[in-house]
Amino acid sequence: MDDKQFISGIYNYCDRWCQKCDFSDRCEIYFEERKHYNALENKDDFLAIVSQNLNKVKEMLIQMAQERGIDLDDLDDEAYVKHQQKNKEARTHDLSQNAMDYANQTQNWFQENDHLEVYKQGFENSIELGIDLDESDRALRLMDEASNIIKWYLYQIHIKLSSAIRNYPHDPQFEDEVQNMHHSSAKIAMIGIESSMKAWHTLLELLGDEEDFILHIIIQLQHLKTRIHKKFPLLKTYKRPFFED
Ligand code: SF4
Repeated sequence: MDDKQFISGIYNYCDRWCQKCDFSDRCEIYFEERKHYNALENKDDFLAIVSQNLNKVKEMLIQMAQERGIDLDDLDDEAYVKHQQKNKEARTHDLSQNAMDYANQTQNWFQENDHLEVYKQGFENSIELGIDLDESDRALRLMDEASNIIKWYLYQIHIKLSSAIRNYPHDPQFEDEVQNMHHSSAKIAMIGIESSMKAWHTLLELLGDEEDFILHIIIQLQHLKTRIHKKFPLLKTYKRPFFED
């Protein structure tokens, strides 16, 4: 593919859900991943492919560091310790922690209680018995779609929020006040929260007995949204190039 057909850096402000992405045919990461995947299927030259991948990662790392004014060749101990400290502060920030709490509670709900399996079984039994066929089939599909969405964004919300906090505030020497790294990360976290809230609403309609837990989770996500907008007041004016043009 011609390099000019790729949208430069689009993978820096997406949610990495490539199967649902409108720009996969213009994304260099997707193109490279498919290429390597196909090569893996057709060849056994595994080491060559891994080494090619590492070179690509190195190129991207250098590019990202340059965009942030970091000289990787001149990263002394002091700069490294500072970088690590900033990472830790971002991961343990209140907002990041709230996102992690949400993820852990949800993960436990999915894992420990088998809620969805019980309901699924009920709908499958109805289908087998020919009762409410359309309704049960629709419920099963909605349940699958909603759980996939929730699971996709589960930890991504925490990761993106930590990244937004780590990159805040922007450096006016290298970045725009609105179109910048911390807004792009916060925006992905927000997309994850809003999509998950819609998915939880779907589950709420299907799983009546789970009302208490689901409402608690929706309120938690709504609260997180409000706090993110307070922390990043210009986030509403940020637009992801191409996705929101
Ligand atoms: S831009 Fe689209 S195809 Fe590329 S990594 Fe992001 S989601 Fe995947």
